Amino acid sequence: MSENLNLDWSNLSFGYRTTDYNVRCCFKNGAWGELEVSSSETINIHMAATCLHYGQEAFEGLKAFRCKDGKIRIFRLEANAERLQSTCRGILMPELSTEKFAQMIKKVVKLNERFIPPYESGASLYIRPLLIGTSARVGVHPADEYMFVVFVTPVGPYFKGGFSTNPYVVIREFDRSAPLGTGIYKVGGNYAASLRANKMAHDLGYSCEFYLDAKEKKYIDEAGAANFFGIKNNTYVTPLSTSILPSITNNSLMTLAEDLGMKVERRPIPIEELDTFEEAGACGTAAVISPIERIDDLDNKKSYVISKDGQPGPWSKKLYEKFRGIQYGTEPDTHNWVTILD
Ligand SMILES: *Cc1c(COP(=O)(O)O)cnc(C)c1O
Repeated sequence: MSENLNLDWSNLSFGYRTTDYNVRCCFKNGAWGELEVSSSETINIHMAATCLHYGQEAFEGLKAFRCKDGKIRIFRLEANAERLQSTCRGILMPELSTEKFAQMIKKVVKLNERFIPPYESGASLYIRPLLIGTSARVGVHPADEYMFVVFVTPVGPYFKGGFSTNPYVVIREFDRSAPLGTGIYKVGGNYAASLRANKMAHDLGYSCEFYLDAKEKKYIDEAGAANFFGIKNNTYVTPLSTSILPSITNNSLMTLAEDLGMKVERRPIPIEELDTFEEAGACGTAAVISPIERIDDLDNKKSYVISKDGQPGPWSKKLYEKFRGIQYGTEPDTHNWVTILD
């Protein structure tokens, strides 16, 4: 049980903390091998491995929760497996079946059960799967050997004092991803491309950078490493773009918005439209929804103020509560999003 670990569960940050085990599986001679359990935090790979030189690296991020009813729930396991498969096709890596992915995730969560934070703490167990090309190459070719690793780490509640809003800044100097590039895949390279923009935003005193489409710099792409949504006239609006990562949180919020009787629109959103939203947020696994206070466009000396009183709006709150309720099993899982660990 988590209790005897004596961690300060409610004050955990979003950082790496050692747990007991990770699970691994290697691809060799055209096939995935057996699941291995490891207690080592390091991996041993060739210095010429394709993941180190040519970016053959993909990852995922999902969470497991210790719930009010004592059960452990993993949120949207299959959707994460499918997104990893899509990333594999995108950077020519062998796909891992949904079944194998699920088996490994369930195993690593079970093995580290004592690290799943107690229900009352609001903290959860973050699950990080990664897939890397391990063959030695000097020329640019995909590897023929791969390693899939899944580790977990307990992470704190994103909003300690409850849900709060953040300021963003539009960055035009750097692009996170190209229109026909790898933005739609969850690969490390997109993050390397985002580091300078992210630093720039932080240096300017903002919590996060805000990206426009790389080609025309007219439409909203992403809010840092999270999807964007805006709400007005009972409508949930989120960008349609070839360079944003298909967030599973966003996909779930679109469904919940419809359940709550809202309209959902997925289309290009010109930056000027920010003036018309009653509410807006960034969404992703880490925070579910991170409500946006304002978005500053310093190049044009313009500030798009979304939340006049600095508070999250009513729809955002409603969506957030519903979402968390499904994760914690206090709301019915009508869309089959949750896997209960047995
Ligand atoms: C992972 C990620 C997201 C959020 O996806 P979720 O599945 O909701 O966690 C959004 N944008 C980028 C760039 C990401 O890497």
